[in-house]
Amino acid sequence: MAAQICCVDHERAGTHTIGGRWFCEDHYRKATYARAGFWRSGLVAIVGLLIFVAAVVALDALLRPQLGGVALVLTGVLLAVVPAALWLLFFYQQDRLEPEPVGNVARMFVIGLALAGAIGIPLTDQLFAVQDWLYRDTLTTWLASIFVTGAVEAFIIFATVRYFMFDSAEFDERTDGVIYGTAAGLGYATALNLQFILANGGAALGSGEVFVAEVALAHAAFGGLLGYFLGRAKLEQDPIWWLPAGLVLASVLNGLFLVLRGELDPSGFTFAGQGSGLPTFSGLLLAGGLAIAVTAVVSYLINRDITRSLGGKQPPATVNPVVGDRQASVAAIATFVALLLIGAFAWNNAVNRMTSFSVGGFSGSYPAAYGAATGASDVLRVTDSLGTGAEFAVSTPAIEAGWDADDVAAQLAGERASTYELYKVLSSGTATVNGRPAYTQQFAFVDPNGLTGAAPEVHEGLDYVFVENGRAVVVTLLTTPDELANVEPEFARFLNSLKF
Ligand SMILES: [Zn+2]
Repeated sequence: MAAQICCVDHERAGTHTIGGRWFCEDHYRKATYARAGFWRSGLVAIVGLLIFVAAVVALDALLRPQLGGVALVLTGVLLAVVPAALWLLFFYQQDRLEPEPVGNVARMFVIGLALAGAIGIPLTDQLFAVQDWLYRDTLTTWLASIFVTGAVEAFIIFATVRYFMFDSAEFDERTDGVIYGTAAGLGYATALNLQFILANGGAALGSGEVFVAEVALAHAAFGGLLGYFLGRAKLEQDPIWWLPAGLVLASVLNGLFLVLRGELDPSGFTFAGQGSGLPTFSGLLLAGGLAIAVTAVVSYLINRDITRSLGGKQPPATVNPVVGDRQASVAAIATFVALLLIGAFAWNNAVNRMTSFSVGGFSGSYPAAYGAATGASDVLRVTDSLGTGAEFAVSTPAIEAGWDADDVAAQLAGERASTYELYKVLSSGTATVNGRPAYTQQFAFVDPNGLTGAAPEVHEGLDYVFVENGRAVVVTLLTTPDELANVEPEFARFLNSLKF
């Protein structure tokens, strides 16, 4: 039999039990208290934000303000913070009769924002670099959205409430979890939005605010949902899978939202000065619908839980809730690690999977993300058109009797110098590939992009030239100076896989 101490304040004697936990008189009342206006406050905040976005879009379309430089960035930063500020304002206005301590809600927001900036965004954008491999194929898009981006965001929001508020005696109502979770979710969204605005040097006012509100509404919904799971975990004795289930559900919903939004609105966003007319609203409506659905479902579940707590026969308190909470926390962390491992598997598969080929006496394998682009003068040419834009090519140029590899390389250089502007061989040398001697040269040139109207681009590349029995084989990597270091390992695997 566990000590009969209130599980909220850990001081007073427990007089009632709910789901196997002891509560003092005060906290029993709090734990079974139904906030009448809870769902209404949430709804008003969501609708208020949507109206605000509509007003910004209308003003932008009517006035067409010409902002630039610092003014544009400052406006963007302001717009990025507006959804969270509006939510707080509406929520407090509606809930002023029974408010949560405003400091706690603000703390959840700030910690959510800080953890997103310090851990969440570096994890998804730098460590996993999701944006580089997300769109390689449909399955990869789903796996990356759910098991990397979705899981990281859900866990950071979960951790914000679990480790910075859960044990506080201020967390004593079932709706508290939802309020704190929503605030943490808005913190995460604000970090994403600020990063977006700053990385792009501002955003077109109307479409920028649509994007910002979309991100905010979606994350508020995931946060609210996680908050429901946390609220019940605090006030009842739930099985050990309860919090992990909440984490998985939030990750899946988050991933689902990311994929659907990408399909509804592939362009997603208009940069400052680009595009004209009205932004697309499909993603915003999806996020708004999600937020409303989560508010409705969570409100229903909370009321149902309270009715059950008040009405049902309560099992005796048998487990020390502190031990149960610790076990649930470990289970949630283990679940997060398991989700990330699936994400890492998808990552590895997307980046390292190879496609084999056999053509004209040549065989080997190239990265699966690359697509065929073989031209008339090539044996094989593949390009990473959705990713880095790099090209790998194999060709067998005609040579004259007695030529060495360096003669072939000189001929190549001559041809390219007449095709491209500023073609230059940067360095040359020799190497051995699978026991075969090769002549190597590194080169650069400028592609004027004359036909497309785009700005001229610097290209950089590597040739491996083999000459055997009067035949020349040239294996070429073509990329940009920025991507060269990224692409070289892939090219090395391609080169080493070649058989001819
Ligand atoms: Zn108490």
